[in-house]
Amino acid sequence: MLLPRMSLLPSFARQGGPSPGITVNYDCPWCDTHQVAKGLVASETYDDVWLTMVCASTVCQRPAFLHIPLEGNNGTLWRNMSGSDPTFLQHGPLKIWPSPRPNYEDEGVPEPIRRDFEEALQCQESGYRFGAALVGRRVLQAAVRDRGGKGNNLKEEIDSLLPDVLNAPLKDGAHEVRLVGNEAAHAEDVEEEDVDALLGFAMDVLDALYVIPFRVAERKKAKSPAKK
Ligand SMILES: [Zn+2]
Repeated sequence: MLLPRMSLLPSFARQGGPSPGITVNYDCPWCDTHQVAKGLVASETYDDVWLTMVCASTVCQRPAFLHIPLEGNNGTLWRNMSGSDPTFLQHGPLKIWPSPRPNYEDEGVPEPIRRDFEEALQCQESGYRFGAALVGRRVLQAAVRDRGGKGNNLKEEIDSLLPDVLNAPLKDGAHEVRLVGNEAAHAEDVEEEDVDALLGFAMDVLDALYVIPFRVAERKKAKSPAKK
């Protein structure tokens, strides 16, 4: 769930010829612009192709490096195969460098909270543990306040939510976010697994406060005309 979303579907750009290439659908890891472009084959083995790509956006034009694991090529290097060979398959997920920027787009979450949670995920992906923990805590506090939390501090705000807004197990998760966020704010160490837990619990809380109520409301809207 915390994985970046990207679509990478390699296909032959042409069948043989003097400069065969692999056309790849992908989102630029720098600017998120969707690309359909031919990669330059940087290196290949019987089981792998590495491609260099350049973003076509005129304001970006930055490079990315892709690895495509292959199967079904029966001991033939990719460049010697027919482009229409139906047995040529991508084997496993593609990897892209630099790491893509994760998106968070769950329905029903208010835009400022969605945007901040995306920033927390991007901090995590880039290895900024303290940034991820602090922004994750910020997201939790904004969401709890938005849904009616009151009190002198985040602990009281979480506890003040009615059980039909946030039940006891989810409040426990919210307190975990608060505690890890506090450690990050007070110069204590925060491990990678603490950040994973914090962001996982924050997402659970956002699901409960926004995403599930939104989906239920949409479902009711969709069903109501048919029942008449
Ligand atoms: Zn770009």
